[in-house]
Amino acid sequence: METLLPAVAEELLKEVKKAFVETSHIPDELLLALKFVFGSSALYALDLVDQHCVTRITSPSGRVVFQVLGSSGKLYTCYSSCHYCSCPSFTFSVLKKNDSLLCKHVLAIYLSQALGACQERSVSDKQLSQILLAREDDE
Ligand SMILES: [Zn+2]
Repeated sequence: METLLPAVAEELLKEVKKAFVETSHIPDELLLALKFVFGSSALYALDLVDQHCVTRITSPSGRVVFQVLGSSGKLYTCYSSCHYCSCPSFTFSVLKKNDSLLCKHVLAIYLSQALGACQERSVSDKQLSQILLAREDDE
């Protein structure tokens, strides 16, 4: 999934992971760098990771999706394999205006994996397809 990120973002997440494994916190210079590369999404994303809002859902067939509980209490389904999130900001800023690399939810997925703060959940293939089909009408 890393191949979809620009090299600089990828390197940065690697550094975050390394620093966190060694010191269990993220040094200020990396926080600044995250903010520089990802804009204000970085802080929101770190908040989501802090509150353990990211869940990795796997099914027996090997499919993986992520669910991120947004700050508004809404659950967003994200596909890290194609870098997609169901939130309005992703549609607006990332797809239409193209002025963001990714939304805070997708960034939270990357960060939660770097920081080892991702919840794990296994579901059956049937349950997974229900999660995939449960698209909200009010988007
Ligand atoms: Zn999103």
